[in-house]
Amino acid sequence: MRQKRTTKHIFVTGGVVSSVGKGIVAASVGALLEARGLTVTHLKLDPYVNVDPGTMNPLQHGEVFVTDDGTETDLDLGHYERFTHAAMSRMNNITTGRVYATVIEKERRGDYLGATVQVIPHVTDEIKSFIRRGSQQCDVVITEIGGTIGDIESLPFLEALRQLKVEEGIGNAINIHVTLVPYIPTSGELKTKPTQHSVRSLREIGIQPDIIVARCDRPISNEMKAKIGLFCNLRPESVVTCQDAQSIYAVPLMLHREGLDALIIDQLDMWTGEPHLESWKKIVDALDHTTKRVTVAIVGKYVDLVDAYKSLHEALKHGGFSNNAKVDLRYIDSEEIEAKGAAPLLDGADAILVPGGFGQRGIEGKIAAVRYAREHRLPFFGICLGLQVAVIEFARNVCGISDANSVEFTETPNPVIHLMEEQKDIHRKGGSMRLGAYPCKLLPGSLASQIYEQEQISERHRHRYEFNNAYRQIFADQGLVFSGCSPDGQLVEMIELPSHPWFIGCQFHPEFKSKPFAPHPLFSSFIAAAIRCKQS
Ligand code: GLN
Repeated sequence: MRQKRTTKHIFVTGGVVSSVGKGIVAASVGALLEARGLTVTHLKLDPYVNVDPGTMNPLQHGEVFVTDDGTETDLDLGHYERFTHAAMSRMNNITTGRVYATVIEKERRGDYLGATVQVIPHVTDEIKSFIRRGSQQCDVVITEIGGTIGDIESLPFLEALRQLKVEEGIGNAINIHVTLVPYIPTSGELKTKPTQHSVRSLREIGIQPDIIVARCDRPISNEMKAKIGLFCNLRPESVVTCQDAQSIYAVPLMLHREGLDALIIDQLDMWTGEPHLESWKKIVDALDHTTKRVTVAIVGKYVDLVDAYKSLHEALKHGGFSNNAKVDLRYIDSEEIEAKGAAPLLDGADAILVPGGFGQRGIEGKIAAVRYAREHRLPFFGICLGLQVAVIEFARNVCGISDANSVEFTETPNPVIHLMEEQKDIHRKGGSMRLGAYPCKLLPGSLASQIYEQEQISERHRHRYEFNNAYRQIFADQGLVFSGCSPDGQLVEMIELPSHPWFIGCQFHPEFKSKPFAPHPLFSSFIAAAIRCKQS
């Protein structure tokens, strides 16, 4: 009789400081295990109380990543999709807010009648069942816990992991703890003490890490690994270095060289052949041998935190991969354009991109950036809000509608961007935008259809406002082409300007679907246009 296959669990926690690279380590583990022929999926448990990150300012939390099913999720889910074949959905990300919302809903329904509802076992049971549901029959499920060991908020999640590890049994669940080993320049030494403290905190709540991934700016000697092992109750070979890399795409190979995947396979009592890492080697090799270089100006509002545009950042790099080019990203605060004018800030850029965003602040600077790109014939790519500001710019400066605007920013007699009908009655902000994958039909012969080489595409959305169809004819008469629309023709999804070398706006977010091995065609084409523009 065939034995039922057991799903193995890997839990990834972080210690010492946040932003230590846990997400990239978790994604790299997924990539390495897939390269060994295993099926993997990823889960992210976030300890904050928001039900999802959709209502948070990107400067607080970084980008909100949107999945095909329209879930607003943590940006680490973007890394998981970029590094592996796992498709993310509502099943892959929970927060304290969502766990409690579910438990309270069950309590009101009477599911726990007779019981005092408590963190242990009711909240922890909910977390465990989320993890088990999310494993989707894969060989390995990699569950990352947001935050840092020692945070009050993460305690119920860690307790759930502790219980799950016991329930799954030896060889079926392991914990990888990612810590920082800082180098102190004045003493010329690497310091292991913060790692020791972090592991001590983990062990106090009953979790002994099985592997430590030590993030460091330089290699960690075997002697140092033995010291970390001694204090953290591990064999030295279970301590792996994750050194700062020139690119996140170099991390899987680096961790492989450190023996991480072999160690995991061994500890999870599995057997696979050696991993096939050729595609990762090709990427790293390509990074080392780029022949061209272009600068893309990104004109936005959240420029102080690159994480706020994470997928965009990666998609532009992928566009570079398909063109053998290094893409330098110049983030420009649109309010600075308002103060100083577009020319001094955009001078030297080979292409201009206006990304998604919300709210009125900095809008006029973005409109000025579109105008600069249109008039200077620089490749222009407008994404979501970027399309909307391109529409406003065209209305004002080409169609002569000087008070054209979006109703998101002001009341105007000429609302070229307006609220969608079904949005008018929405008063609860959370999870209520137009979210997730929608089909879009491309206009035959348009630049968009040439780029996609398809008649119908599917892309992910996250917005409330929409192009106002009352203005379609006026725009068309002035040469703007509506190159992508919803299949019923009612919603404008893409615009382009045939009289310009490369001017495209899209109401969706193509950056969410770009992968290093499959760069998104719009980004590949945009970077190719930037290269042509630089050469001309
Ligand atoms: N603020 C705009 C809207 O809600 C654009 C959103 C975005 O760029 N993601 O429609």
